[in-house]
Amino acid sequence: MTDARPYRLGVLDGDGIGPEIVPASLDVLDAVLAATGRAGGIEWMRLPMGRSAIDEHGAAMPDETLHALATLDGWIMGPHDSASYPEPHRSQLNPSGLVRKKFDLFANIRPAKTFPGTRAVCANADLVIVRENTQGFYADRNTYLGTGEWMPTADVAIAQAIFTRPAIERIARQAFELARRRRKHLTIVHKANVLRVTTGMFRSIVEEFAPEYPDVTVDAFHMDAMTVHLVRRAGDFDVIVAENMFGDILSDLAGEVSGSLGVAASLNHSTDKAMAQAAHGSAPDIAGQGVANPAAMILSAAMLLGWLGARNDDMALPRAAAEIERGVSAAIAGGSATRDLGGSASTAGFVAAVVAELGS
Ligand code: ATP
Repeated sequence: MTDARPYRLGVLDGDGIGPEIVPASLDVLDAVLAATGRAGGIEWMRLPMGRSAIDEHGAAMPDETLHALATLDGWIMGPHDSASYPEPHRSQLNPSGLVRKKFDLFANIRPAKTFPGTRAVCANADLVIVRENTQGFYADRNTYLGTGEWMPTADVAIAQAIFTRPAIERIARQAFELARRRRKHLTIVHKANVLRVTTGMFRSIVEEFAPEYPDVTVDAFHMDAMTVHLVRRAGDFDVIVAENMFGDILSDLAGEVSGSLGVAASLNHSTDKAMAQAAHGSAPDIAGQGVANPAAMILSAAMLLGWLGARNDDMALPRAAAEIERGVSAAIAGGSATRDLGGSASTAGFVAAVVAELGS
């Protein structure tokens, strides 16, 4: 918190399990702020997004929401189930893509860490995927006008990818800086044996930064080989940098390998805004049952606190973020895991267990 004002953060519930896990993460944030003497340090602004926003405001991401986001320090955004929207909303750029593009949230930081007490494929994963968030093979967000996908005839579909030097340079910088603060190992994921020009350029531009970071060991793997390495030995990786779609796919895999998608946190940021958003989707198959794992959303919200603190030189916030991570880990280890982690806790039960841990 600056002396002048509390931080102002948006809250967008979204679809599916969103209205369960987003309020859950707010409960944890409010509890950690109270436990660390910072009650009232964040002003929340609830904003419409998703299916209910279509019904009430005519758009999954209404203009009012976008205008409000522009005035905020950051926001917590639940998942959306855009595949279930009625047309024309289903064919439009989805709410996440839209805000990532509008606010140039170019870096998507996705940690995958094994929590003690879970039945993870990898017992000791502790890695972070740094995903370029604005270009690459996600054609829906790489053009100024239109979606980058088109059909010249009813039987032919074309999608275009885009890679640019400035976008690769800024994500490379993020990845090297993060590796330097962690275990000093950076892995570049590409597919330069086939997609030589595009992902080959991604790889070589990231490698150009290596001389500036002689303390960081750099290696590189093809995207397909990387899936094997992650399943076999996720514990050997530290920071992984990848283009948009490769990073998306790898982070679901890494999340599951380290325990469950339900603990896969994610932060999207630009130079002046950040959005906490779990790496998983809206999980419509379990929505409304009170069994969703809120950990990914809670840990994403904690990452937002860490980012706000670093940006404002407010070190109490990274400490609060670390306390949340400790609380989540202790709650899981203490037997309060949700179903996806092999336990039987409800969403509310898990939140209560985390809150009980905070400040203890
Ligand atoms: P999207 O395309 O939006 O990423 P998806 O259909 O690919 O969505 P998810 O919605 O992430 O995938 O769901 C994949 C599986 O993981 C589902 O079985 C879902 O129930 C489960 N899952 C996802 N998130 C959670 C969570 N927070 N808690 C428990 N299970 C979850």
